[in-house]
Amino acid sequence: MKINLIDLTIEKAHNSLLKDEYTVLDLANAYLAVIKEKNEELNAYLEIFYTDIIKQAEVAQKMFQAGTSTLMTGIPIAIKDNILFEGHIASASSKMLENHVAVYDAFVIKKLKMEGVVILGRTNMDEFAMGSSTQTSAYGATRNPHDMTRVPGGSSGGSAVAVASDMALVSLGTETCGSVRQPSSFCGLVGIKPTYGSISRSGIIAMGSSLDQVGPMGKTIADVEILYNAIYGHDILDSTSLSDKFRRTVLGEFKGQSFKKRIGVPREFLKGEGINEEVLKNFDESCQKLKNLGYEIVDVSSDMMKYSLAVYYIIMPAEVSSNLARYDGIRYGLSVDASNLYDVYAKSKGQGFGKEVRRRLLLGTYILSHGYYDAYYNKALKVRDMIKEELLNIFKDVDVLITPTVPFPAFKLGEKMDDPIAMYMCDIFSAPANLAGIPAISIPSGKTVDGLPLGLQITAPYLREDILFSIGKDFEKRV
Ligand code: GLN
Repeated sequence: MKINLIDLTIEKAHNSLLKDEYTVLDLANAYLAVIKEKNEELNAYLEIFYTDIIKQAEVAQKMFQAGTSTLMTGIPIAIKDNILFEGHIASASSKMLENHVAVYDAFVIKKLKMEGVVILGRTNMDEFAMGSSTQTSAYGATRNPHDMTRVPGGSSGGSAVAVASDMALVSLGTETCGSVRQPSSFCGLVGIKPTYGSISRSGIIAMGSSLDQVGPMGKTIADVEILYNAIYGHDILDSTSLSDKFRRTVLGEFKGQSFKKRIGVPREFLKGEGINEEVLKNFDESCQKLKNLGYEIVDVSSDMMKYSLAVYYIIMPAEVSSNLARYDGIRYGLSVDASNLYDVYAKSKGQGFGKEVRRRLLLGTYILSHGYYDAYYNKALKVRDMIKEELLNIFKDVDVLITPTVPFPAFKLGEKMDDPIAMYMCDIFSAPANLAGIPAISIPSGKTVDGLPLGLQITAPYLREDILFSIGKDFEKRV
């Protein structure tokens, strides 16, 4: 039987597997056939886990036979190359970790194994998740299937392309600032950055620990919701992971409160330089669609949101320089021989890390240095608190906020590589959610005249992923 992968959803696949219309291995093989045909050109996967696929498919098939299957059982999934899967390389697309084999499973992998998923392979990304185009990978750029001359976004570009080109049904990316939402927007997918602490960071190669979060990507809201439900939850191995009791308490406060169906637009924030005309026009159309669906759209004012990008680019490099200090040629990763210890450090880091990673290490070390710590790092932390507080206040009036996900559509390969500031502009609308720890989703909202996908970003209060899924499902029906 030929499986139609283009319109396949988790629910449809699950029903077919339940009815024995095809086996778990048939489904995995259908994706492997597309991978064989397309991956060389697109470079979405760095490695396919061939032998594990067969073993995992057997486990899943047995769950179906035993009647213990869940919606995720047998679902073929791609994982970003910074998620540890025991016995497999996790390189964060860096030369530094080229041969780094994971010795334990990340929390999300443990969860997914319990559900009996089929992990197809690991996907390309910007090196150590630093970038917005998947071009900083040490293993070559990934291409956007909607236009092969353009980037897929990043840093989870490989995970986005795997799903967008039918090389996986769903995928996992990670976010520090937009790395799930931005490539989802560039590739026409749904991608969510959940509440900070919702999904354990255990077994995720760290970038900025106060910002990092795993995020599901898929073609539909329902697929992303199912994957999210499979991987969230408390984990004792991550001290910032939210306890179930805490989650219940926070959500209990909302019980019985009805939706205002009131959506805020931070209008001043959309007036910045460099926002593409087609993106703005598409955003207006999205607002109109939401109005037609019965939502009230109101402008909200924000004094602080415009500082988010600047604050992010202080806090993130500071955390990066601390997290990546372990890759010194002694403890982890690439080790280059030299006659003294200092040269081992310098040569290992110099040869192991690419330009963008080195730039951020230098910036972060400077930001945290004696004499500048208060001027930069401490001040950024204070502004971060002010941004959080402002968002809390805004959510007293509206259910969610909306903006475009990115100020422009997918750009050409090679573009912005010599201009880091232009590249960092990709993150302008993403940063507030990561800094505040609140959830945000990107949903396909149409295309440019050249056929490039665009995305609408919806941001919700703490732990209110449910609102994002609910509005998202409404919006998705009419697009
Ligand atoms: N564009 C962001 C950056 O370069 C992406 C970070 C992320 O979300 N991993 O920092």
